[in-house]
Amino acid sequence: MKVDLHSHSTCSDGLLGPGELVERAVLRGVDMLALTDHDEISGLAPARSAAAQWGLRLIDGVEISVQWEDTTLHIVGLNINPDHAPLVEGLAAIRAGREQRAQRMAESLAAAGISGSLEGARRYAKNPELVSRSHFARYLVETGHARDTNAVFRAYLTPGKPGYVPHQWAALADAMQWIKGSGGLAVLAHPGRYPLNQQQCERLLKEFVELGGAAVEVVTGSHTPEEFIIWARYAKRYGLRASAGSDFHGPGEGYRDIGNVPVLPAGCVPVWSSF
Ligand code: AMP
Ligand code: MN
Ligand code: MN
Ligand code: MN
Repeated sequence: MKVDLHSHSTCSDGLLGPGELVERAVLRGVDMLALTDHDEISGLAPARSAAAQWGLRLIDGVEISVQWEDTTLHIVGLNINPDHAPLVEGLAAIRAGREQRAQRMAESLAAAGISGSLEGARRYAKNPELVSRSHFARYLVETGHARDTNAVFRAYLTPGKPGYVPHQWAALADAMQWIKGSGGLAVLAHPGRYPLNQQQCERLLKEFVELGGAAVEVVTGSHTPEEFIIWARYAKRYGLRASAGSDFHGPGEGYRDIGNVPVLPAGCVPVWSSF
């Protein structure tokens, strides 16, 4: 069975609509797909209609932006209930914060001599409530400030660079509560990507377990094969299950296409075994 439990649509920073995403997943042989838009669940209903037409098993998901100590983390919720009021309200609050962050990012870029970036980013954001750094990145590529989005992130959109502004995302405990309260499973997304040393990783995992976390994303487009092994070991040590997903955003963006998800290392307990 081909499983992909992390993907994005135009409801956040993906390039395909929810229906197109489902179609691409089916054509690439995916049997079970989770749509996990950033801080947004409005794509789940259209994805579900498409999935029913194609006979794809769709898992309702979300990827919540969280602030933990000085680090921004992403927590994926799988098998969530999209009608759970605290989850719906919590995500709406994060999206409102995004709007303010986008304005501050644009001011910061303007101070560095790049004007019009908010309007530019908005043109790429199909969902007006969800302007992300990816939309700014696409605009900065369009206007010739860098060769591709990766280069834009390096030069403009990461800590210390002109378009980066600190932001207070949701608290980890709140995000976990919204997910679990809705009946979902909380997954620590792409842990290898965070700027944390081993001691900090251990502290995060301990807290994640105490808060009722279910799984670690072991296989993801952000991990190297060596990191698959490292995070499989962490998962095992902390009694966590393992998740796997491409983190697909669109054709030609990112490292892995939808469904291009290598098998979990031996010894992992797949988080989807209970779905
Ligand atoms: P935001 O949630 O608005 O801060 O945007 C985060 C998104 O930016 C991530 O989900 C990725 O899609 C994208 N992103 C982050 N870092 C990079 C990078 N180095 N290159 C390309 N895209 C990135
Ligand atoms: Mn993204
Ligand atoms: Mn992420
Ligand atoms: Mn993602």
